[in-house]
Amino acid sequence: MLVLGIETSCDETSAAIVEDGRKVLSNVIYSQIDIHHQFGGVVPEIASRKHVEKISYVVDMAFKQAGLTVNDIDAVAATYGPGLVGSLLVGLSFAKALSFSKKLPFVAVNHIEGHIYANFITYPELMPPLIVLVVSGGHTNLIILKDFEEYEVVGKTRDDAAGEAFDKIARYLGLGYPGGPAIDKVAKLGDEDKYKYPVADIDGYNFSFSGLKSAVINHVHGLLQNGEKFKIEDIAASFQKTVVNILVEKTINLSLETDIKKIAVAGGVAANSRLRKEFYEKCTQHNIEFFVPEFKYCTDNAAMIASCGYFKLQKGIVSSYRENAVPYISLVSKKS
Ligand code: ATP
Ligand code: MG
Ligand code: FE
Repeated sequence: MLVLGIETSCDETSAAIVEDGRKVLSNVIYSQIDIHHQFGGVVPEIASRKHVEKISYVVDMAFKQAGLTVNDIDAVAATYGPGLVGSLLVGLSFAKALSFSKKLPFVAVNHIEGHIYANFITYPELMPPLIVLVVSGGHTNLIILKDFEEYEVVGKTRDDAAGEAFDKIARYLGLGYPGGPAIDKVAKLGDEDKYKYPVADIDGYNFSFSGLKSAVINHVHGLLQNGEKFKIEDIAASFQKTVVNILVEKTINLSLETDIKKIAVAGGVAANSRLRKEFYEKCTQHNIEFFVPEFKYCTDNAAMIASCGYFKLQKGIVSSYRENAVPYISLVSKKS
């Protein structure tokens, strides 16, 4: 089954064609990063206008790269939220119109759920049950994926998302947008044990990164005021280590507690080299299998949306054209 996926929730216009949820025939991403970079973050109005300009071209390219035409596909999937409402509307409306005109089933996909499916693309044999940590720009979720479409959200952030913390600290340190890759890069040159930052003791499997963010900012502020010399690399590395440790520790604990010895990470922060390294080490120590998407499927892309759409269709889920763009939706537990 061939599914066309469309993703426009933030600042990437993306279209992909995926076969049977696992095999990517094309995955075209037009990134607006260069445009938003000058503003230090995504400007919603500019983002939606750019999506309007690029969507037809990007979908065309997805068909061209796959060597297919619109008559070859079996369904259309698109992100309906969470994200920027103006941006979401562009991809969602395009997908609905295409599905209607070609009489193809339409599936609305939750962007965060979509991130998880990047793992099923990278590992064609991977099957639930598994523990999933979604760490993206706006979300941090610890999930028990019991089966496709059947999951329990056991933890989330009480305030900032992991990626948001990276972006805010990077901005404060003058490293620019997007902050995650910038911190990852400079942290390699720093001493991660130079500074000890506090991490909030949050209940159970929940997270909190806002206190850590303030601690780092206050620390740097103090160093500046006192005229003390310091290296941004050391700050970035110490901050990154603190975030990584708490994410890995809670995820490993959940795997041990549930005896589900498979961990997958997803979302933009899954691209972080220090996070990947720590997970590999700790999972090996505890005899847990570790899965992480290829870099290109960690951040926003339409292949993961097409994949998620496929598995929904397999479960008999088809969406109505009444499905609207929703800026804020949290991932709620779906148990059978
Ligand atoms: P959401 O998926 O929650 O709606 P989003 O779509 O903006 O948010 P993603 O595309 O999943 O988020 O990922 C972008 C985030 O990932 C940004 O916060 C970015 O800083 C972070 N990120 C990307 N690469 C890295 C990296 N190497 N290290 C740490 N963070 C990273
Ligand atoms: Mg983005
Ligand atoms: Fe995302």
